[in-house]
Amino acid sequence: MTKCGACGKEFSGVTAFDAHRTGTFKPPTRRCLSTHEMLERDFAEETKGSRVKWYQVERREALLRAYPRKTGTSDAEEDPASLWDDDAEESRQA
Ligand SMILES: [Zn+2]
Repeated sequence: MTKCGACGKEFSGVTAFDAHRTGTFKPPTRRCLSTHEMLERDFAEETKGSRVKWYQVERREALLRAYPRKTGTSDAEEDPASLWDDDAEESRQA
């Protein structure tokens, strides 16, 4: 879980977090994208309990392709939370 200290939004991982920051360090125009700008950039929000996390739709789909899950073949409940941390998925590649 990655929380932005500037805008307070939570993100599925560092990659999504980085993607919501824009501008440059020199000149110092770094800032967070607004919610509207994030939606324009293919971000989506996901609610879990009382918390909302932002993730990138395209990236999530790429991860799902890279790590296909069993669907409908098991009576075990697949925990959607396992897809929340994009960075954890990446570390499995190492
Ligand atoms: Zn932010």
